[in-house]
Amino acid sequence: MHAITCGTCATGTGTLRVLPNRIFECLSGHQLTLQDVDLDGGHVWAVDVSGVLGYVVSPSFSLEVIAEATDDLAASGDCPDPAYAARSALGKALGGCLDFVDACCAGVVVVLLEM
Ligand SMILES: [Zn+2]
Repeated sequence: MHAITCGTCATGTGTLRVLPNRIFECLSGHQLTLQDVDLDGGHVWAVDVSGVLGYVVSPSFSLEVIAEATDDLAASGDCPDPAYAARSALGKALGGCLDFVDACCAGVVVVLLEM
């Protein structure tokens, strides 16, 4: 998980911790609500066990990366350098798997829909 830092602090390095009222606050007292968190579609927010707000790669995005890597691996024999293409596909799949595990460890719930 990558911590989301306070954008108001001059240094921008202050982590945000959750308060009982579901607001996040840095050590300087600047507050942030979840409505203020603007992540792209490939990432989702999470809170670690110490209460720090952060983000991880969306599990659904990771599954798409793994599926693409599987297709790339299947097609690697058609490439000019099949061994390089296969290694590249396996590296892509490994990255997707590691991101998926990172999201699971951060407590992000995975919802699988029928395809
Ligand atoms: Zn701050």
